[in-house]
Amino acid sequence: MSGGLVLGIDFGTTNTAAAFFDAQGKLRLVPVAEKVFYMPSVVWFHAGDKALVGHAARTQIIEDPSHTLFGAKRFLGRRYQSEFVAKHRDRFAFEIVEGEDGYCAFHVYGQVRPLTEVAFRIIQQITTLANHTAGTPFTECVLTVPVHASVRQREAVRYAAEKAGLVVKGMLNEPTAAALYYANLRNPEQTVLVFDLGGGTLDATLMTVKGRVVKVLATGGDAFLGGSNFDECIVEHLVERFHREQGVDLRTNTVVMQRLVFAAESVKIALSKADSKQVRVPCIVQKDGRFIDFEFDLSRKELEDMCLPLIERAAAACDDVLARAGLRADQVDELVLVGGQTRMPAVRNRLSHFKRFSSDKDVNPELGVAIGAAILGRNLARGTSGLADVLPMPVSIMLPGGSTREVIPANSPVPCVRTLALEGLPQWNAPVPLVVFESLDATATDREVLGTIQVAAEWRVGVGGAPTLELSMGQDFVLKARLLSQNGKAAQVAIVDARPLTRK
Ligand code: AMP
Repeated sequence: MSGGLVLGIDFGTTNTAAAFFDAQGKLRLVPVAEKVFYMPSVVWFHAGDKALVGHAARTQIIEDPSHTLFGAKRFLGRRYQSEFVAKHRDRFAFEIVEGEDGYCAFHVYGQVRPLTEVAFRIIQQITTLANHTAGTPFTECVLTVPVHASVRQREAVRYAAEKAGLVVKGMLNEPTAAALYYANLRNPEQTVLVFDLGGGTLDATLMTVKGRVVKVLATGGDAFLGGSNFDECIVEHLVERFHREQGVDLRTNTVVMQRLVFAAESVKIALSKADSKQVRVPCIVQKDGRFIDFEFDLSRKELEDMCLPLIERAAAACDDVLARAGLRADQVDELVLVGGQTRMPAVRNRLSHFKRFSSDKDVNPELGVAIGAAILGRNLARGTSGLADVLPMPVSIMLPGGSTREVIPANSPVPCVRTLALEGLPQWNAPVPLVVFESLDATATDREVLGTIQVAAEWRVGVGGAPTLELSMGQDFVLKARLLSQNGKAAQVAIVDARPLTRK
């Protein structure tokens, strides 16, 4: 057994990494190959239930796209019937379908399988590698999730880790993990904004760091903005040019489009250092009986111009978080850059109004999150946490008449306990249902029902006043409810989920 060691896992949309503190208290990163510390979050199903994970699977995105799942974390724990899924599912060559529980599932070899299986295989693989590094099997872990992750998405990742044989000691928001890493690196007393622009999402988190303790002040970002949007933007422009010059529209061929996305990404990365680079995919399509190449020169300036709207969106998300906390950019001591896409010079330049940036020597953009998770794991093993994370989205209840009450506001620190006096409940003799839901957007039109609480008559009828509902959110982001009566009675009540996430 791993003797109290806790594995920190950053299960990312694009890449997955893990780290831990060994028995001597030394930080260990988990190598995936020689000097490589991250593993592509890709699973290739090559026959029935046989699968390969990581670098070996990544090459299959082009060879066998319909059986190769990548970026699947975007869909994990999301309802199939949602705007997000309708908008994104057709961009992938693998098939996202509705599972029997209503959540996104995938279709391979004639079977509909839950997406938690993909997460499970990735977490299992990185854990196997970690066991090898530690020389002993891990039984406990800390997981990181995007700030915007709903309670359901957190539950889906937790379940995948449990299936891989791990007890989840804690869950923390990715930027908070990065800040925890930062806080332990320097032990500063500062206000920092963690700007995390990875492959799939942008998270911006404002926090104070004091004596190695991190307190989150506000979070925000853009769940639809990440490095892959930059890649798509390049492809979009070049495919349009190709159409104009060659009269061939490549958009209808998903395999060709996937090859172009790969080529665009590598050129984008190269242009973070070079001034110009060629995007070249040989023999992309046949025209008039002969193969033609896809070949364009792209300069850094052109890349920056085409991606300007994306960069502006990223900057606007930062301003929004600052506004929510009532701070200005010049009151932030340091902007901590996390996520591979922050290596793009134009992204950094757009944020130059912040007085100080972390350099990648200080905070490794790709590994900081996994290290932060390892730090929380070490702290939890010692019985401290060194952390005050926040709940990204409000949790509310709906009363029988349809009116709603917010119980836990967005940006509440976790763990937290909030109460609400249940005034005006019907005095009839049957249980009264209260629907507990999480608002997925600011306008609260997009809601995720978490379950129903039945308030039995004994809490309402003839007890001399309204009962109180108490909702508590733990550090593991598990929600619990209690009822308290005016005459001092208190009891835990179940939040019954009519359509739970499938666990298999
Ligand atoms: P992460 O999720 O942190 O691994 O970030 C992955 C994203 O960062 C992908 O979209 C990559 O294309 C992008 N990325 C990685 N390195 C660079 C670079 N040097 N310049 C621009 N983007 C990069």
